Amino acid sequence: MLICKHCGQPVPDNRLACEPCLVLRGEQDRHDAQMEPLRRVHAGALRLITLATSKTANKPHIQLFRSDNETYCGMRVNSRYVRDRMSWFEVQSGPETCCKECRRMLEAAMRAALVEKRKAVTA
Ligand SMILES: [Zn+2]
Ligand SMILES: [Zn+2]
Repeated sequence: MLICKHCGQPVPDNRLACEPCLVLRGEQDRHDAQMEPLRRVHAGALRLITLATSKTANKPHIQLFRSDNETYCGMRVNSRYVRDRMSWFEVQSGPETCCKECRRMLEAAMRAALVEKRKAVTA
């Protein structure tokens, strides 16, 4: 039986890798992929990609960077959704600018991105 290198748990015989660790790593990769683009968004050099059910829908979701089909709130992107762009300033301009859950996740990711930047600068 295989033992997972990351968590030390036995890997079931019918599996090639430890499932919980794969999921965690996937989330970590997805998180890491947001850091650099988010810093550019914060600096005003890049805008967030928004997805709405129509041009007139008032609360668009926000797409994850480096992903074609996922949003910050976990909703899968449907090809019917209308893509647009939104600046960090616009997102911050009021509570009604985007999906509540997307905003919550985005703000947490942005805080992490800015903390990592500070660490990188002082290191
Ligand atoms: Zn594991
Ligand atoms: Zn959302």
